[in-house]
Amino acid sequence: MHPRRLLIGGNWKMNGDLAGGVELAEAVAAAFEPIRTNVDAVIFPPFPYLQSVARALGHSGIELGAQDCSAKPNGARTGEVSASMLVDLGVQHVIIGHSERRQFHHETDRLVCEKVHVAMENGLKVMLCVGETWEERSAGRAVEVVQKQLRGALEGLQGDRLAALTVAYEPVWAIGTGKSATPKDAAEAHEAIRRDLEHLYDRSSSAAVRILYGGSVNAANAPSLFAHLEIEGALVGGASLKGADFASILGSAATAFKGRRG
Ligand code: PEP
Repeated sequence: MHPRRLLIGGNWKMNGDLAGGVELAEAVAAAFEPIRTNVDAVIFPPFPYLQSVARALGHSGIELGAQDCSAKPNGARTGEVSASMLVDLGVQHVIIGHSERRQFHHETDRLVCEKVHVAMENGLKVMLCVGETWEERSAGRAVEVVQKQLRGALEGLQGDRLAALTVAYEPVWAIGTGKSATPKDAAEAHEAIRRDLEHLYDRSSSAAVRILYGGSVNAANAPSLFAHLEIEGALVGGASLKGADFASILGSAATAFKGRRG
């Protein structure tokens, strides 16, 4: 199989302000220009900043993502944002099942699954987050937990939808802690996810899915993560808020892709 470009996502979470977000997007867009043929990128700003960030990204080639969407297509859901509303704004990607949503908003695999369906029906590409807690890993249950989340999220999804799916393996204990998984542990988890996708679907449709690593990725550890072929990019939180750091991660991904291509 020909190696694919790595995909780097910047999840800004609920950080920053409008002026800072626009400035950051402009800086990242400028850094992306010389490497855009060797790496894919998407930025996930907070909802209110989507349109301004879209303008700042311009024709840079960096795509626009939202951090969540409602499981319902429309109606009485105060405070929620529907997938079709995101599409109206030019959003192309949506994060679903982030551990912070599972933890603080009690999102279940069933709700995650409904969101995946509604997002894809509206033409959004889904960045599905899965990952175990430290307790689960310590109990030797990491693979089992991730498998359950993956299967729950993809229930009822046809294989031809996988072209719109990216899986982000994000061990909960590594998110925002400065304690990244080792490249070897991450690669092993990715391998298990890949096998599970192939088991649930088939080899060729699951080959469309890129599997990213997320959890304290930074400019320093990105090259060693991307040295593993199983790691096809990163979902980056904290380091995506610093233009130079995010640019450096993008650069490492572009270099890794060139190396993989040989
Ligand atoms: C995330 O929230 O998706 C994430 C990976 O955060 P951080 O990079 O800050 O660990």
